[in-house]
Amino acid sequence: MKAVVELSERTLAFLTTQRLAPTPANYRLAFHCLDGSRAELRHAVDGLCDGGIRLTQAQADELYESFFGSAAAAISTEAFEEGEELRHQALKLADLAASASAATSEFSRELTAHQPAIATADVAALQQIFSITIERANRSERELVATTQEVARLRQQLEAVQGDAQRDALTGLPNRRGIDEHLATLLNESPTVTLAICDIDHFKRYNDRYGHAVGDRVLKTVANSLSESVAPHFVGRWGGEEFIIATSLPVDATAGLVEHAKAQLAQRHFKLRENDEPLGRITFSAGVAKADPANLDATMASADALLYRAKGAGRDCVLAA
Ligand code: GH3
Ligand code: MG
Ligand code: MG
Repeated sequence: MKAVVELSERTLAFLTTQRLAPTPANYRLAFHCLDGSRAELRHAVDGLCDGGIRLTQAQADELYESFFGSAAAAISTEAFEEGEELRHQALKLADLAASASAATSEFSRELTAHQPAIATADVAALQQIFSITIERANRSERELVATTQEVARLRQQLEAVQGDAQRDALTGLPNRRGIDEHLATLLNESPTVTLAICDIDHFKRYNDRYGHAVGDRVLKTVANSLSESVAPHFVGRWGGEEFIIATSLPVDATAGLVEHAKAQLAQRHFKLRENDEPLGRITFSAGVAKADPANLDATMASADALLYRAKGAGRDCVLAA
C-alpha cells in the first residue's frame, strides 16, 4: 500500500513537472511510465524529454494511443465524469446566484431611490413598508453573496482534489494560487513587470448554445493558443474565462505581445468535433498595466478597468495604460 501511495505521489509530481493536466489518461500514462512495468513506454518518454524538454499534451495523447490502445479523450473514468458533472452543476449554480444577486441589488437600489419622495409625501405607512422591503432585499442579497462565495469555495476544493493546488485542472495552466506565486517570484527578479488580463468575448454564448462541455473545450483551446503565442512568458487562468499574462517587458511591448496572441487565436478555424460546425472567430479583450510591486491589487484594478473599457469599445480590443 505504501509503495502505491509513493508511486501515486511520484506520478502527480511527474505530471506537475511536465505541466500535464491530471486527467485519468495522463495519470495512467505517467503511472505506468514510472512503475517499471512498461520499459518501452519509459524509453519513449525519456527520449522525448531528453535535455529537460517537456512532453506536450499531443505527445502524451499519441503515447497513450500507442501503448493503451484508444484515444485519450475517450478515456474517462466514472469518477472523472462525476467530477465534471459536479463542476458544471456548480457553474450553473454560480451563474444563477450571481444573476439573482444582481437583480436583488437592482431592486433594492430602486426602492432606496424612491424612499425620499414617499417620505415628503408623508405617507408613513408606505414608508414603513418600503423600509421593511429594503431590509428584506438587503438580507437576501447578503445571503446570495454568501451562496456565491460558498460555490466558489466548493469549486476550489474540487480543483484541489482533482490535482495540483496551484494548477487549474481544466486547462493545466497555473490557477490563481499559481499566478500569485509566479508574480511574487517575477517581482523579485525583474525591475519591470507588466500584467495583462484577457477575457474571452461573449464566452457565455458557447455554453448557452453548445453546452458546458464545448465551453470547456473552448477554454482549453484558448489556454493552449495563448501559451503558445506568448511563450516563454507566463500565462495563468485567473478564473472563468479570464487569463493573466505576465511579462518582464514594458507595457507597450506586452500590449504588442497580447495583440499578437489575439491575432493568432483569431486566425484559427475552430469546428465542433461532433458535426464540423464552425464556431467562428474566438476573440478576447484585454487590459494591460504596469505592475506596482507595492500594490498588486491596484495593478489588477487598473488592468481590469482597461479591460472593462475595451469591452465597452466593442470588444476584440487590447487597451494599455
Ligand atoms: P463578455 O464579452 O462581456 O466578457 O461576455 P461573456 O459572456 O464572456 O462574460 P460572462 O461573464 O457573462 O460569462 C462568463 C461565463 O463563463 C459564465 C460562466 O458560466 C462561464 N464559465 C466560467 N467558468 C467556466 C468553466 O470552467 N467552464 C465553462 N464551460 N464555463 C465557464
Ligand atoms: Mg469575464
Ligand atoms: Mg468574457
